[in-house]
Amino acid sequence: MPFQTIIEPFKIKAVEPIRLTTQAERAAILKRAYYNLFLIRAEEVIIDLLTDSGTAAMSSEQWAGVMRGDESYAGSRSYYFFEETVRDIFGFKHVIPVHQGRAAERILFALLCKPGSVIPNNTHFDTTRANIEYRGGRAVDLPCAELRDTTTPHPFKGNMDVDALKSLIREVGAENIPLVMLTITNNSGGGQPVSMANIRAVSEVCRAHNIPFYIDACRFAENAYFIKLREPGYADKTPLEIAREMFSYADGCTMSAKKDGLANIGGFLCTNDDKLAQQEKELLILTEGFPTYGGLAGRDLEAIAIGLREVLDEHYLQYRIASTRYLGEHIAREGVPIVQPPGGHAIYIDAGAMLPHIPPLQFPGQALAVELYRLGGVRSCEIGSVMFAGRDPETGEEVPAPRELVRLAIPRRVYTQSHVDYVVEVTLEAYRRREQLNGYRITWQTPFLRHFSCHFEPLGRV
Ligand SMILES: *Cc1c(COP(=O)(O)O)cnc(C)c1O
Repeated sequence: MPFQTIIEPFKIKAVEPIRLTTQAERAAILKRAYYNLFLIRAEEVIIDLLTDSGTAAMSSEQWAGVMRGDESYAGSRSYYFFEETVRDIFGFKHVIPVHQGRAAERILFALLCKPGSVIPNNTHFDTTRANIEYRGGRAVDLPCAELRDTTTPHPFKGNMDVDALKSLIREVGAENIPLVMLTITNNSGGGQPVSMANIRAVSEVCRAHNIPFYIDACRFAENAYFIKLREPGYADKTPLEIAREMFSYADGCTMSAKKDGLANIGGFLCTNDDKLAQQEKELLILTEGFPTYGGLAGRDLEAIAIGLREVLDEHYLQYRIASTRYLGEHIAREGVPIVQPPGGHAIYIDAGAMLPHIPPLQFPGQALAVELYRLGGVRSCEIGSVMFAGRDPETGEEVPAPRELVRLAIPRRVYTQSHVDYVVEVTLEAYRRREQLNGYRITWQTPFLRHFSCHFEPLGRV
């Protein structure tokens, strides 16, 4: 390409105004929300990078699909269109629609996970871990060694440590591992991709021990594009061909269509196991709905099916990965420590490295996230000890998460270049003020997924 500028490969057909707040207003809003950004109204946010989940802009084709949706209770045409699309891309025999990714996880783990079960993953997403622990299982993260060093780039930091997987199987016994999961891209691990070689290697270990292998497929298209860009032998393949190969090594998948489905709600659970699929459909009817709609409207199934095709478009993926990298490069070159290299859907600031004067259990990530909001109305998400602190089984004391990150997640097709430039400016201002930031204390929390609702109090300087 002769030009450097990465343009958004779409035109804007409908706009939504952004209300611009002042710093004084935001300081009051923060106080009212107990410094928890999940408790702030979206209208009070200028640029919302809380999550890339369910926040995509749909295309004119998807909106047309919404009108075409068949809302029949049983045997909806939209379901068959959805099933055919998912089968064509993912290749699994059974396709079970659900209202979002965690519903797929709940159904899968209700059937496969019991007290004492051990479930390995490259890195469990928070709802995946919570669903496993809720069934009495143990969720074990086995990221590759390269992930621990956030400063050096490596093409496939999302990989699973295959030797660690083999040791775990020897240690706990294959009979106690009902399935192995691989999350692509590795969201909690920094949005880093997993290589085809690693998918193949994990699959081989699973086959050798007769353990079912599942992919958490939320960002499968972004992962496929990274394989195309970075893995030898894939440069000339289309994202669709790469996606098909990735899933050919697995026995099933869970999917949140709120990510690479380019839809605002929805998900699915796939398996090649006939007996398991039957049991899954029975559970589906209990809480989600009949198997041809699974908690979704026919119009949602249409939007997802169309989104799954659009997300594999190479021009879309090129823009997507390039615009995320743009944000990362522009803050990193001024000194902001970020997880390197930039991931697919988000930039992760290493708040632990940026705010070394705030101890992990005073939540440096939370301190930075609050500051980005206070300064510029930018909403981000702490991915550190607020979200992932553990408990010492003996003393019951809180153990910090391995990393203190702040995620700037980029909604798909929503913000333009100037919005991203504004985020760069706000982030650099927070970086200049870093030594003035203080930690936080949690004053109220729930036993599971506390980050969604807990209350904080700012700590003064000692
Ligand atoms: C979002 C997400 C989920 C859960 O999906 P929901 O649609 O939010 O329920 C599971 N795994 C990963 C990697 C995710 O990013």
